Formats: sequence, structure tokens, C-alpha cells
Amino acid sequence: MKFVFSVLLLLSTGLNVLEAQEPCASHQILERLAQENPMGAIAIKQGQEEAYSHARQNGPNKSAPLYRIPVVVHIVYTAPEENIPDSLIYQQIEVLNQDFRRLNPDSALTRNEFKPVAGDAGIEFFLATLDPDGNPSTGITRTQGNPGGIFGVYEPFSDNVKIAADGGKDAWPTDKYLNIWVCNILGGFGILGYAYPPVGDVANWPAGTAPADTNLQGVVVHFPVFGPQNPQAAANGLDMVNRGRTLTHEVGHYLGLRHIWGDGDCTEDDGLNDTPPASDNANQVCDFSKNSCQDQGGTDFPDQIENFMDYAADSCMNMFTQEQVAAMQYVLDNFRNPLVESGNNLTQNSIQAPNTGMQLYPNPAKDMVHIRWSGQAALGGHLELLDARGALVKNFEILASSSSSINIQNLPAGWYLLRLNNKQGTFFQKLLVH
Ligand SMILES: [Zn+2]
Repeated sequence: MKFVFSVLLLLSTGLNVLEAQEPCASHQILERLAQENPMGAIAIKQGQEEAYSHARQNGPNKSAPLYRIPVVVHIVYTAPEENIPDSLIYQQIEVLNQDFRRLNPDSALTRNEFKPVAGDAGIEFFLATLDPDGNPSTGITRTQGNPGGIFGVYEPFSDNVKIAADGGKDAWPTDKYLNIWVCNILGGFGILGYAYPPVGDVANWPAGTAPADTNLQGVVVHFPVFGPQNPQAAANGLDMVNRGRTLTHEVGHYLGLRHIWGDGDCTEDDGLNDTPPASDNANQVCDFSKNSCQDQGGTDFPDQIENFMDYAADSCMNMFTQEQVAAMQYVLDNFRNPLVESGNNLTQNSIQAPNTGMQLYPNPAKDMVHIRWSGQAALGGHLELLDARGALVKNFEILASSSSSINIQNLPAGWYLLRLNNKQGTFFQKLLVH
């Protein structure tokens, strides 16, 4: 009965989604919440207004410490191709980090008129190294799902992927982890992802007005567009969104951002001044001549199709704005702070030392470890894998790069040290093999 109910709701409230081929259902989720729980929706909106008002008035805090967010990726599959490999998950986290730190190689393609407002969000994400019970974890779960029903897929309006009893996978505590579910969402209907907006202090709201079950907080992404160059993107006709930017967009929503066209005409706005008004989304293409609204006063900017919160093709998305950064910082400081605290605690307790220029994913690891290089470590060099007694186990020559992967298959479980030597110095990182 529950499934019939949700399909009927989809066919009624979701029709505009299907007609408009909206790749992101986050706005529709919010509209649905507004119908079911008007007080809760008003509370969400008040929180958003608070964040946007702060962002417009103050801009980003450029001396804020780096925000580090622990992530758990739940792979919920019903067919083998939906059970995407660890390597693609590491690459996706890499893309997410590049986009949120403005270290994405295509940041150079931001048009000159928008370069002054483009911003580094100072937010980094890492696969959780501890599970909710405190045990070492890869930050990845895999579940053979069973959504049942007529279509046999997961759908946004019942959130069945987030509920084990409905054939999905229950969240890890959503105040401590960013939960990301990857599954087959409504195959063929064009929805690529959705996220819940941040909620304020639910405890202080009147009973019954909480905007959403906290166990539903997080992000859902359609499996073919999770990870850059996922072969399933081409197989599903989704080449234009094959660079892993659906997750960047949805995490933007999760941290409070709206679509830059405000989901309406030129009179609707996203609440921020450095995203020019637009009357519509970029429709998954790269039309740099698009200027859908006359800006009030000053320069009439074109539509900012390179913004991650538009719907351009992945190949022409490359920026958040300064005010978007400020809004996300506000949300992290005020509405999702336990997440940051949790990230800090996990960092302190974990085996990753910050700022060494070498970060390992996952850690603990098995079979493969993915390395992200930054600063002078990105120049490459001679990499050694030493065991706990300091004996050389393997060595590798690393070319100048932002990332590498090394094979650690057949290594006995235990502690190791990775040590990179190059002309600029020596860089260390501990690795736990399990
Ligand atoms: Zn969206």
C-alpha cells in the first residue's frame, strides 16, 4: 500500500519533474515537504534566509579553518553494473574535493567577468575512517537492495533507498556523517540526484514541525553519474554529465545552496548577489551566450552557467561564488556543526596527518590505495612503502600529478609508512592495511 501511495504521489506531485526533465529533484522535495508540513518548510526557509543574509552582508570568512567532513558512501544495487567499484568512489571524492577547494583543473575556464567572484569553499570531504561503533572503516557500505514495486528502482518521493525496511540502507548518524546513497533512481525519468536542505535547531521548534526525519538527511545520486568517466554514463546516454559534478551540485544543496535561477523566472532569485538573475536553468548544455534576465543596475551579466548550482553540462561547470561559499560556511557553523566537529575528531583520532601534501583514500585500505598529492608533493618523486619496522617493501616512481593509485594487494595486514622523496623534501603518511 505504501508503494502504491508513493507512486500516486509521484504521478501527481512529480509530474512537473518528469515533464521538465529536471535532473535534480531537490526543489521538488522541498515543495513536497511544504505540502506535507508547512511549518517545517517555513522553518527551513527561515534558516536559508538567515544564511543568505549573512552571506550578502559579510561574504566568506577567508581565515576560517578548513572544514573537514566525514563521508559514508552507501552503494545500494539491484544489478551488477550498479555496484560501482571502489576506484570510482575514490575518484568521485577527489572531484568533490577539487570542486570545493577550487582546485579543479577547469577552474581556469571560468569567464573573466566571473573570476573575481569565484571562491574556494575551504571544505574537504574524506571517506570516514571509523564507523558509528568506532571500528576502522573504509567509509563505503555495499547493500544488495530490493526496492520492489512496479519499476524496481528507488524513487525520491518515498526515499526508500534510505530505509532498510523498504529495501534500502539505513543512514549512519546524519549529524556525524554526510551520508551519500548511490543507486538506480527512477531509471529513465531523468532524475540524477537530490538532497535535503539543512535544518536549524529542530529541538526548539514546536512539536510536529520538524521539516524532515533526520534519518533522511544526506544526498542521493543516480549510479551512472557517480564518479568521473563512469562507463555507465555513456551506456545510459548521460555523457554530458559524466564528470562527477552531480555530487558537487547535490552537496551544494545539502549545505544550503539553491539553484542559481531560483527555480523561477527573473523575479525569483537564489538569495545571493554574485549569481546574476536567470529565468531558467542551463538545460545540460554549454551556451555561453545565454543571458535570460536583464540585471538591475550596473553590468548586465550573462547567466552564470559555469556555476555548480546551475544545470549546465559537467564540462562547463567549474565554480561556486564567494557568497555561496559564505552561505555554506554559515550552514556548517550553525546548522551542521556536529558534522564538522565529528570530522575534526575523526581527523585527530585517525591516521591521516593534515598538510603533509599526501592524503590517502581509503585508510585503512585493502587492495588499492588512492593518493592525493598537493603542494610540493604534487611534483612527484620516489615513493617508498616501508613496513612497521622500517624495512622497504616496495617502491614506485611517481610522476608530477594531483593523484595516484598504488596496488597493495597481498600485503600482510598492519601498519606501513608511505614516504615520498623529491627535490623539495620528504613527505610521510601512515597507512593501515587490513
Ligand atoms: Zn539541484
